[in-house]
Amino acid sequence: MNLFAELALTPEGWAKNVRVTVDQIGRIAAVESGVEANPDDQYLRNRILLPALANLHSHSFQRAMSGLTEKRLQKRDSFWSWRELMYSFLERLTPEQMEAIAALVFMEMLECGYASVGEFHYVHHQCGGQHYENIAETSCRVISAAQKAGIGLTHLPVLYTQGGLNGKALADGQLRFGNKSDEFLELLEHVEPAIRDAPEDYLLGIAPHSLRAVSPESLKEIIEARTSGPVHIHIAEQLKEVDDVLENYGARPVEWLLQNVNVDSRWCLIHATHMIQAETRNVAKSGAVVGLCPITEANLGDGVFDGSELLSSGGKYGIGSDSNVFIALTEELRLLEYSQRLAQKGRNVMTSKSGSVGSAIYNDALAGGAQALGRKSGSLSPGNWADFLTLDAEALSLWGCSDDEFLDRWIFTADDSLVCEVWSAGRQMVSHGQHIHHQEIEQRYRTVIQEIQK
Ligand SMILES: [Zn+2]
Repeated sequence: MNLFAELALTPEGWAKNVRVTVDQIGRIAAVESGVEANPDDQYLRNRILLPALANLHSHSFQRAMSGLTEKRLQKRDSFWSWRELMYSFLERLTPEQMEAIAALVFMEMLECGYASVGEFHYVHHQCGGQHYENIAETSCRVISAAQKAGIGLTHLPVLYTQGGLNGKALADGQLRFGNKSDEFLELLEHVEPAIRDAPEDYLLGIAPHSLRAVSPESLKEIIEARTSGPVHIHIAEQLKEVDDVLENYGARPVEWLLQNVNVDSRWCLIHATHMIQAETRNVAKSGAVVGLCPITEANLGDGVFDGSELLSSGGKYGIGSDSNVFIALTEELRLLEYSQRLAQKGRNVMTSKSGSVGSAIYNDALAGGAQALGRKSGSLSPGNWADFLTLDAEALSLWGCSDDEFLDRWIFTADDSLVCEVWSAGRQMVSHGQHIHHQEIEQRYRTVIQEIQK
C-alpha cells in the first residue's frame, strides 16, 4: 500500500508531497518527501497526514457506566465513593457484554485518532470470584473486541491480590479481580495463544494493579517471572493512597516503588499525580513513562501533577483515556495543558522549549505512548507500524495556517471531528470520520445497555 499526502509530519518535521509505503504486515517500508504521486498511490487529497497516538491506559468496561456516577450521593463524593459504584455496576456484566462494550470503546478510540490501546484489564472472574472454565476468558474477549475494531492492542492483565494494604482480604466487588501470583501466571499462559493468533502488532504485558492491591511479595514474584514486556501500575493517584502507603511502608508510593523494584523503561506509572520533586526527578531518571489521563483525573477529582517539574527533569509521559467517561483525543491533550495553566497561573506550560505547545504535547505523547505500550510506533519512520491519521486540511479551524500551527489549531481550537482516516498497523479502520463497522458495533452496544438496565 502506498499513501500520498501533500503535507505530513515526519521525524524531520513537516514535509510536502510525501509518499509512505506500507508492507504486507502493516509496517512502514519507506517514507519519501518532495516526490510526485504515482497513479496507484492512495492520494489523500486535502488531508494532513500525522503519526497516530497510542492510548496508554484504558478500562474499557467503564465506558458503559459513564454518566451514571455524576449524581451527588454523599456530602463529599470522592474517588472512593465512585469506586463503590463501579464495583456494584460490575456485578451485572457478562463476558459477552464486556466484549461488546470493549469493541465500542476501541471503535471510538480509532474514530478520534488513536491507533492503539493499552487495556489494563482487571475483571477476570465470575461474581463471587469463581474462575471461568478458561481462566483467561475475559482477556480473550478483550483481544477479540480489539480485533473486531482493528485497533492495535497491548493487553495488560492485572494482578490483584488483596483488598487493601497489609493483606486485607478481597471484599465483595473485588472478588472478580483476585488472583494469587501463581494463578496470575497461569492466566498469562492462557492469554498467550490468543495473542499469537492475533495480528502481529498485538502484545502482552502485565499490570500489578497498585501498591494497595498487590502485596510486595506478589509484586516481586511476577516481575521476576516476566522479564520482558511492558509493566503498568496505578500509583499516587489519590492523597489517601499516598498517606496510607507512607504510614504502612514508611515511604511515599513512588519513592517506595523506586527503592524496592527495578523500575526502568519497561514501566509505565499510571497517574503519578502526587509526587514530590525528588520522586519526579527519580522517575525521569528511571526511564519510565508517566501515564496521564487528564479527563478521568479531572472527573475523579484526583488533583494535578507537576508537569513542568517532569519536563525539566527530562521525564516522559503519554496519554490514556482510563475510565473512558469521554473518549476524546484533543480534549485529553487540551485539558493536560489547561490543568497546568490553572494550577500554575501561567501559559504554555507543557513544553521545555520555545515554540508550538500543541506540537510539543503531540510529539511527547507519541513517543511516550509508543514506549509505554512496547509498540514500535510514534513516528513516520521505516520499521514502525503504520499507525496514521489524517486531518481535514479544508476545515475552517485549520484555514490559513502552516506547519506546527496545525497542531495548535487542532488541539486548542477544534476537536476530533477533524479526524478523517485512521490506520492501525496498516489496517484502515476509519474512513471519512467513521469506523468501517460503526453501525454493527454501535447496535450491539445499544443492546447491551438495554440488557444491563433491565
Ligand atoms: Zn486506571
